[in-house]
Amino acid sequence: MIIAGNFKTNHTRSSTLSYAKGLNQFLRDRQFGAEVYLFPPMSALAYDDFSHFSIGAQNAYPVCGGAYTGEIGLDQLNELQIKTLMIGHSERRVLLGESDQICQRKFEFFAHHGMNIFLCVGESLEVRQAQKVREFLALQLSGIDLSYARLIVAYEPIWAIGTGVSASLIEIQETHAILKDLGCSRVVYGGSVNPQNAREIMSLDGVDGVLVGGASLRLESFCEIIENGEMK
Ligand code: PEP
Repeated sequence: MIIAGNFKTNHTRSSTLSYAKGLNQFLRDRQFGAEVYLFPPMSALAYDDFSHFSIGAQNAYPVCGGAYTGEIGLDQLNELQIKTLMIGHSERRVLLGESDQICQRKFEFFAHHGMNIFLCVGESLEVRQAQKVREFLALQLSGIDLSYARLIVAYEPIWAIGTGVSASLIEIQETHAILKDLGCSRVVYGGSVNPQNAREIMSLDGVDGVLVGGASLRLESFCEIIENGEMK
């Protein structure tokens, strides 16, 4: 199972550090087999030298460095030995106008540099109601080399993110089947995953793990989700 926590713009540098130490200790003591990732805010990015999980960046610009105010690039990630990047979270697509084209450029650049990539895709409620989910996801994936071995696709329906209402098990299973059919090999689900629903979601066919926002903010709740993944 792949289990990732996305802090978004929550936690400080010091609270992230104590969380990360606690998480590492939990994973070391329990010897879990899960692949665990943590995406703290940029200001809390730390050396990725925790032995039991990986630290990822929530965003980066597809350059080594240069005149891109407010962004970080490959040089900054390399300095911290960050090897994992999230691309195309719906909050960036919706709030900051990040297009499929820029997501493709980011993918191309960072895949070329061998990074682990979480590519977030997912439809709005309007698209789902219009029964255009497959076409929409295919468009978001166009130009992405789905055979890239370090790619993890995160299926995150926009209407389920941060709402407290996850997609139904049937919706998750059907949509993951679409993504697998489109050629994605590892697909995690994100959208109001919590310790109560995580086990059922992770036991579905075609679900290779979860990306967790709100319920990852407390270490105890994130650890419960990891435990639930082990019991699949
Ligand atoms: C997310 O934003 O990636 C996410 C899945 O959020 P939440 O779990 O809070 O819905």
